Amino acid sequence: MRDDLVAFIDARLDEDADLARRCDGGDDCGQWVARGHTVDFCQVDLPGFHPTIARHVARHDPARVLREVAAKRRVLRRHRPERVGDRVVCRVDGDPFPCADVRDLAAPYADHPR
Ligand SMILES: [Zn+2]
Repeated sequence: MRDDLVAFIDARLDEDADLARRCDGGDDCGQWVARGHTVDFCQVDLPGFHPTIARHVARHDPARVLREVAAKRRVLRRHRPERVGDRVVCRVDGDPFPCADVRDLAAPYADHPR
């Protein structure tokens, strides 16, 4: 269970990062900008968005996704399991593994089949 959950989170982060890199196109077009009803995807401007949705899309551009993936990987690496006697606990908080932080890292992927 605990190794499965870490592997599950790692796989989802790999997918998020891979998709973000493919949207970036390898030409540093990972920072998107919203202007009213238009999102500037660097390579192309697409109009027709509600301004709030345009801001939401731009706010979750590939550059941000890659920063979030990197931050989540650092959290996951800190909250590694360790054996203490006959228990497996998180080395950061001492809670039974997977701790709440690791479970929270999995939470955004609750709709993904396991
Ligand atoms: Zn922990």
